[in-house]
Amino acid sequence: MTEQVPPADGPDLPPQDAGALPHGNAPADGEIGARASVPGGTARAGVPGGTTRGEIADVIVVGGGPAGSAVSYYLATAGLDVLLLEKAHFPREKVCGDGLTPRAVKALTAMGVPLPEGDGWLRNKGLRIIGGGGRIELDWPEMSSYPGYGLVRARTDFDQILARHAEKAGVRLLEGTAVTSPLLDDRTGRIIGVTAKDGRQFRGRLVVAADGNSSRLSVAMGLHKREDRPLGVAVRTYYTSPRHDDDYLEAWLDLWDGTSLLPGYGWIFGMGDGTSNVGVGLLNTSAGFGEIDYRSLLRRWLATMPAEWGFTEENRTQPIRGAALPMAFNRTPHYTRGLVLVGDAGGMVNPFNGEGIAYALESAEIAARVITQALARTSATGRELVLQSYPRQLKDAYGGYYTLGRIFVELIGKPSFMKFATKHGVKRPAVMRFSLKLLGNLTETRGGDAVDRLLNAVSKMTPAA
Ligand SMILES: Cc1cc2nc3c(=O)[nH]c(=O)nc-3n(C[C@H](O)[C@H](O)[C@H](O)COP(=O)(O)OP(=O)(O)OC[C@H]3O[C@@H](n4cnc5c(N)ncnc54)[C@H](O)[C@@H]3O)c2cc1C
Repeated sequence: MTEQVPPADGPDLPPQDAGALPHGNAPADGEIGARASVPGGTARAGVPGGTTRGEIADVIVVGGGPAGSAVSYYLATAGLDVLLLEKAHFPREKVCGDGLTPRAVKALTAMGVPLPEGDGWLRNKGLRIIGGGGRIELDWPEMSSYPGYGLVRARTDFDQILARHAEKAGVRLLEGTAVTSPLLDDRTGRIIGVTAKDGRQFRGRLVVAADGNSSRLSVAMGLHKREDRPLGVAVRTYYTSPRHDDDYLEAWLDLWDGTSLLPGYGWIFGMGDGTSNVGVGLLNTSAGFGEIDYRSLLRRWLATMPAEWGFTEENRTQPIRGAALPMAFNRTPHYTRGLVLVGDAGGMVNPFNGEGIAYALESAEIAARVITQALARTSATGRELVLQSYPRQLKDAYGGYYTLGRIFVELIGKPSFMKFATKHGVKRPAVMRFSLKLLGNLTETRGGDAVDRLLNAVSKMTPAA
């Protein structure tokens, strides 16, 4: 893959997100870089030579996004001592569409996160798909495996809620703690902790990389993004709009600028607070991926919208910001030498729909189960055996589906396929209901209807890679 151009280069792209953009694999701002080694590798945490400040825990989790908070929550609930290190202070912004599908709602419910309607959680009934000159509203199916509704919540709130939820479960959250390098055991090369920007050292029996798309901790451990996996780049902003309380998530499969077709896809998600989250994105399989000016793309698309929706510069309430979406196991292996990768750090975004929060939460739950069992073992060999099962469990959960997703992103990168699919698909409710289950990964795990059984069988038969 050639080096990509970031989504525009205006002054309102924060360093955090600029770093998240696909500029190869180098640490973007050098926050995490050189190998730091610990002489002997066995010094007590925080006091090598008796001078360095720091702390020790069973598990060190780097990054307090959904993946980091969820893995910390589950580990603490299992009785482990967890230090969660987050570079920002909550509430903090995260570039996102803020949309949660029933899959994410299920994962939040499993963590016991209260989701009362009206308390900032805006429920949605389904997905409105616009494309090929057609428009269709598809309700989330009510299933035994997933609830029949999704949610919208700004990440500023959402991530803070999850982090506080983890704290309530006993997690020690340290905000304003930017990790700069791994601490390695000289003899084995295993990670035994991390160093923060202020020099503090944190040591644990295991370290979890939950530091998002750029995952500089993974990079510092030699785990780079895979060139053979899909990657999206998207920008979003907010507008004051009468459409703010839309009870459907709205996805645009093709973007038009008057008469010409623009590259990419778009979304409009009502936030329920007077604003709508509006964004556009592109996959690296699309022609022109590296050359697109995303801000201009967004503006050209919005210029065609009805004036009463209010998507104008005067109504814009936030800068246009962009970041990358690492898809389909974009970084592997998910476990190596004491480091476990969860969420975007492991490139877990669903290539079919760009959804990453549900997969951050789910991979965190799988990782926590594995880590809990591993740390209960009495021998290093036993521990390692359990930890090595984590990548396998991820492959069992998503491998076949993600392989299909990689084929899908190749296809939708071809304008002729998209033209055909939107022209013939969007007007056919049966095709779209099938697509909703496929794109949302919303099939009954057992039984279900013919569509569920077909999709489950195809995913299982497709080799995980
Ligand atoms: C434009 C856009 C729109 C999207 N829309 C949606 C959507 O509508 N729905 C959806 O489900 N997904 C969406 N996604 C994907 C979703 O945002 C991610 O998949 C999700 O945030 C992954 O969670 P995470 O916890 O793995 O990583 P992150 O949310 O990125 O969290 C990583 C955390 O680590 C911290 N961190 C980073 N480096 C360090 C360090 N060195 N030291 C300490 N802390 C550190 C960061 O501050 C951050 O808090 C979108 C993505 C983009 C870019």
